[in-house]
Amino acid sequence: MDRRRFIRQSALSAGGLILSAHIPFSRYPLKKPEVIVIGAGFAGLAAALQLKRKGVTVTVIESRSRIGGRVFSHPINENLVIELGGEWVGNSHVRVRELCAEFGLPLENNQMNTHLIYQGQYHAPGSWNYSEAWNAKFKKILDAYPHLKETDKQRLDQYDWWRFLVNNGCSGRDLEIRELLDSTDFGESIRHVSAFAALAEYAESSEKNEMDLKIKGGNALLVHKMREQIGAENIYCSHHVSRIVQKNRVEVTCTNGKRFTGDQLICAIPTFSVQQIHWDPVLPEPLTAAFNALQYARINKHALHFSERFWKEEAFDLVSDQSPHYFYHATKNQQSTEGVLIAYSIGDKAASNANQSNAFLADDVFRCLEPHFGNLRSLLKGQVNYYWGNDAYSYGAYALYGIGQWFKVMPELKKKFLLTHFAGEHLADWQGFMEGAMNTGEAAAAEVIG
Ligand SMILES: Cc1cc2nc3c(=O)[nH]c(=O)nc-3n(C[C@H](O)[C@H](O)[C@H](O)COP(=O)(O)OP(=O)(O)OC[C@H]3O[C@@H](n4cnc5c(N)ncnc54)[C@H](O)[C@@H]3O)c2cc1C
Repeated sequence: MDRRRFIRQSALSAGGLILSAHIPFSRYPLKKPEVIVIGAGFAGLAAALQLKRKGVTVTVIESRSRIGGRVFSHPINENLVIELGGEWVGNSHVRVRELCAEFGLPLENNQMNTHLIYQGQYHAPGSWNYSEAWNAKFKKILDAYPHLKETDKQRLDQYDWWRFLVNNGCSGRDLEIRELLDSTDFGESIRHVSAFAALAEYAESSEKNEMDLKIKGGNALLVHKMREQIGAENIYCSHHVSRIVQKNRVEVTCTNGKRFTGDQLICAIPTFSVQQIHWDPVLPEPLTAAFNALQYARINKHALHFSERFWKEEAFDLVSDQSPHYFYHATKNQQSTEGVLIAYSIGDKAASNANQSNAFLADDVFRCLEPHFGNLRSLLKGQVNYYWGNDAYSYGAYALYGIGQWFKVMPELKKKFLLTHFAGEHLADWQGFMEGAMNTGEAAAAEVIG
């Protein structure tokens, strides 16, 4: 950035003023703004849908050949569909539920009853628990959460969730099981998670930590309903944005040479992808520093298609201290005698599993489950694996706010840059969720409309 442009920009932002191009479109009585949205995940689609409904001309540009981004439904056959990306809709996820209702998409119960394999011993749901002392202590911690002051929350953000649990008397088996369960929520060891981010999630979410519902027929159905409303002709798939120039208007160039111009831009892509774009003028230093600071969680989903549901209960899930980590019935309530179990691993385990063959991974699954469920080899029909840690656009499943980052890094990432508004799950209060992605997209649309 040259010095003149830097002064112009900082002078404007310091005074809280807006550039002429930031004038809300109501100040242009004859012309509504033309808005470009980059990214057709839930954040970008939610933004485009709101704008379209306000009569704004909107163009969505998407790198992949499909829309939905990290929502990635995968049909196994004509009866079964699984989710390789975002899966559960929480009872507290207001906007996702409202949109499903509006589009006539039924949500089905997707809550699970958790089995445990720990140190080689199998425990059915209801036959294992944390110690009474830890359960009582954790209840007290959650009850106290609504009374925390802002300064208390900022203090909690200075250290990790593992340390918080230890400092509050969680130890031994209780601590190991919390690590196994909580790390499935965050996608990395709880030693990397901000204590504030974790406590807020558990204190503010529904009883099953938002693992409540699923869209019947697959989450992609909502993606497709949104596309219908936005208009398929306004969404350009297989268009990868590589350059953004912001002057009085914004010009977006794709690697295939296509150019789009608009009055304002909503950039609804993961932070890795934002940094791959050539920005003119360059991104402000604090924003770049925030992008450099934020990491994403590594998750591997290894789906195993079995000829019968040997796990018997529809609401089956199981946490283990072995490398497959967490299993769940991914075809709950789908009409078939066949079924799919997903082995869900996180962090280093996910990275390691992602490099192994399906045969190797299946052996791990058999080693873990067969002592307790009998011979499974003859029941296995097929396997699919997706590792989000190497996804070309996000390099992770969702953002992971580490120690000291929630209150420092997120506010920087949320700031508007000239004509660009940022959106995406990484900026949401419901961070890491489909609901959060939608909330930020809708908020960006509201800012554009003014
Ligand atoms: C394994 C896994 C499990 C999850 N589980 C749950 C769950 O159970 N419940 C839940 O609510 N959420 C879950 N999530 C999170 C949820 O899926 C995400 O929070 C949400 O889908 C993110 O939406 P987004 O729009 O912010 O980003 P994305 O969906 O990543 O959308 C961004 C889009 O931008 C595109 N893009 C990137 N760069 C460019 C470019 N240069 N030009 C054009 N396009 C570009 C990408 O291809 C992508 O389609 C899970 C996610 C994963 C991966």
